[in-house]
Amino acid sequence: MIKLAVFGDPIGHSLSPIIHTEFAQQAGIKVDYTRIQVSAEEFAERFAEFVSDGGIGANITLPLKELALEVADELTATAIQAGAVNTLLKNNSRWLGTNTDGLGLVTDIERHQVSLEGAKVLLLGAGGAARGVVPALLSAKVASIHVANRTPERAEALIQHALTFAVESQSGSLLLTAGGLNALPRTPFTVVINATSSSLHGEELFLPERILKRQPFSYDMVYGEKPTAFLQWAQRNNCPVADGLGMLVGQAAESFRLWTGVAPDVRPTLAALRNRLGLWSS
Ligand code: NAP
Repeated sequence: MIKLAVFGDPIGHSLSPIIHTEFAQQAGIKVDYTRIQVSAEEFAERFAEFVSDGGIGANITLPLKELALEVADELTATAIQAGAVNTLLKNNSRWLGTNTDGLGLVTDIERHQVSLEGAKVLLLGAGGAARGVVPALLSAKVASIHVANRTPERAEALIQHALTFAVESQSGSLLLTAGGLNALPRTPFTVVINATSSSLHGEELFLPERILKRQPFSYDMVYGEKPTAFLQWAQRNNCPVADGLGMLVGQAAESFRLWTGVAPDVRPTLAALRNRLGLWSS
């Protein structure tokens, strides 16, 4: 039995136990995957208890992703670049911290037959989710990323951080720019990703329609029973759309692969989840 857990606060809503139980059934592996609710103050101690109880892998969610950087003995480049850990795995007696969120997004976008290589990306938002996916977008060889945020200074800080590692991984032609939501560039985008939490609260972003003129693939990290306000707006402008459930399942699939060595097929898990929870599908 492989002992796994997800740590966060709150954690009751987490779909991770359902997703990993599906993956385990698919792979014919026995896993014990639990939710552990713990505050930031008690995280290190509770994690140590989990390790002494035989835990070999963990997912980390809000608000503990930055703290998990300190719990790990070693970090992957992805975790350092993202500035957050969402997956911990035991490697001999040491704990490796990594971040699979970005790969989850990239594999989900590519599953929708959208090529990121050479894409002109508009990334809306500059919180933890936006920061976490930039390294993977760069690895997927996008041509440009414009980060637009309600608070422009956060977008600027995000690209300044990204530039410190982007220089090493790109040929020099990469364009990384930032600004406010009300000052979007006039250049066309081929992929627009909503990484703000506006959709969680049903709030609209009130963006200019010209950004959808070339019908970019429009992605919202939030998912739900119906398309988010952002996705409905994109649909009205004839854009292909997708919600973030595939990103969630995609990041979980990469964590599962790291822990067990088996890469699960995300499609049956996604279909089962949408069916079970009555979620909308594009
Ligand atoms: P966060 O760190 O709290 O950042 C929130 C971001 O949303 C900030 O950029 C904030 O702008 C912006 N924002 C919030 N309300 C807004 C509004 N009404 N109008 C415009 N901008 C607004 O949150 P996060 O961790 O980055 O998560 C962002 C979203 O992604 C959440 O909804 C989360 O559920 C989702 N997510 C999904 C997955 C997945 O696997 N599908 C993974 C991670 C996150 P300011 O900087 O100006 O405050």
